[in-house]
Amino acid sequence: MKTAGKRGGGATGEDRTGGRTDRKGAPGAPLSHPGADPSNPLHTQPIEFIGSFPDPQVRVDPQLPEIAFIGRSNVGKSRLLNALVGRPGLARVSGSPGKTTLLNFYRLPGFYLVDLPGYGFARASEGARAGYRKLVTGYLRSRMTLAGVVWLFDIRHQPSSDDIEMQRLLAESGRPVLAVLTKADKLTRSNLPVRTRELSEALGLQQDQVQITSSQSRLGVVELATSIVAAAAGEDT
Ligand code: GDP
Repeated sequence: MKTAGKRGGGATGEDRTGGRTDRKGAPGAPLSHPGADPSNPLHTQPIEFIGSFPDPQVRVDPQLPEIAFIGRSNVGKSRLLNALVGRPGLARVSGSPGKTTLLNFYRLPGFYLVDLPGYGFARASEGARAGYRKLVTGYLRSRMTLAGVVWLFDIRHQPSSDDIEMQRLLAESGRPVLAVLTKADKLTRSNLPVRTRELSEALGLQQDQVQITSSQSRLGVVELATSIVAAAAGEDT
């Protein structure tokens, strides 16, 4: 993952544990499970849902590097998370986007995957938008353990104003970012490089900072899993 912009500040908030632990996903899935892909480094590791938290400074124990997932509502984040770890029921594929304003933590042996709520839900109220901004801005700016951000786009769409706002926030935070283009199965193979180039230019991303994926066809999923493991270990890929 490449770093963009300047480094953000350190953690300033209180270190308190807050929030609900109602389980959005399956509890500690077993290590070996049907359909595991041995070439995917995330399929052969145990994963456990830790909880959903409203506080960007929440203390999780043990402290480990975190890889955050963020993108517009309905971008395919839940389905991609499930494909990445090989557990179809882990993150809930949304019927009603924009409902979650909590950080969902999933623990693997060496790091956490953190599912940030999706942005840009058209029918969200002003209050919900403000709450969202506070949660996500607080997390991206100040979280000491955040090792990298996986930023998702639907490969078919132009960046929205919310995407551009997120671009500013990510650049300002200085976090390493890997941009992931989702739902590649919706385009023809010959269109993929064209859209990748267009979106990279529109978002100011380097081509090697962009991964094309499809949760449906599994395109790019092993590559993304490999990049995540490397980023969590502090390696620049
Ligand atoms: P989220 O709101 O970002 O978590 O998005 P979801 O994972 O809930 O997916 C939103 C919708 O897009 C659902 O109807 C999914 O089935 C669909 N979807 C997600 N990923 C893919 C994909 O790779 N290919 C196709 N064709 N549809 C997808």
